[in-house]
Amino acid sequence: MRIVLLGAPGAGKGTQCKKIIAEYGLEHLSSGDILRQQRAAGTELGKKAQSYMDSGALVPDDVIVGMMVDAITKISDGGFVLDGFPRTVNQARELDKALKAAGNKIDVVINLEVDDDAIARRITGRRSCPKCGAVYHVENMKPLVEGKCDNDGVDLVQRPDDTLEVVKNRLKNYHEQTAPVVGYYRENNTVSDIDANGNPDAVNESVLGMLKAFSVSQNE
Ligand SMILES: [Zn+2]
Repeated sequence: MRIVLLGAPGAGKGTQCKKIIAEYGLEHLSSGDILRQQRAAGTELGKKAQSYMDSGALVPDDVIVGMMVDAITKISDGGFVLDGFPRTVNQARELDKALKAAGNKIDVVINLEVDDDAIARRITGRRSCPKCGAVYHVENMKPLVEGKCDNDGVDLVQRPDDTLEVVKNRLKNYHEQTAPVVGYYRENNTVSDIDANGNPDAVNESVLGMLKAFSVSQNE
């Protein structure tokens, strides 16, 4: 199965991705990870990306698409979940072209739907331990003692990226740039909308149920 996982920042893509991969043994292709790997390995694409990043510019679509397609073609039996990519309609279009040229296509598009307010509460409520990395939430995953890590008693901190201002900005960028990707896939594929407002286990049940129905339909 070739899966694209879409959803706003904070919609739970990372968590759902891990669970899908564990269930189906697919390859996890995160654009952030692949960008880091290519830069670390000093590949041509990695160097190109680095030069944009050094000048403070966004890495252009063709470089990102090149890296992702390169990673996709290295997977022998073809199953993967794309996470954090495609981020723009242009990237989605370029990805389709490259897959088509290789005789492939995206099979499943999962769209995790969460209200902006719920995302803001999720992200701004996060606290983490600077010593052991444990993560808590002020509403739904409280430490035993307020503000202290259960493991080592260290004062919990909020990451600078997790403030309301930063979250609002990321959501604005998402709605402008990435939400249209959902529209693109609606025109070309079947998009499975999953209500992701609930807890991660309930969301996962919906996701796996949908994937199961898909694989059954493919084998008929
Ligand atoms: Zn700790």
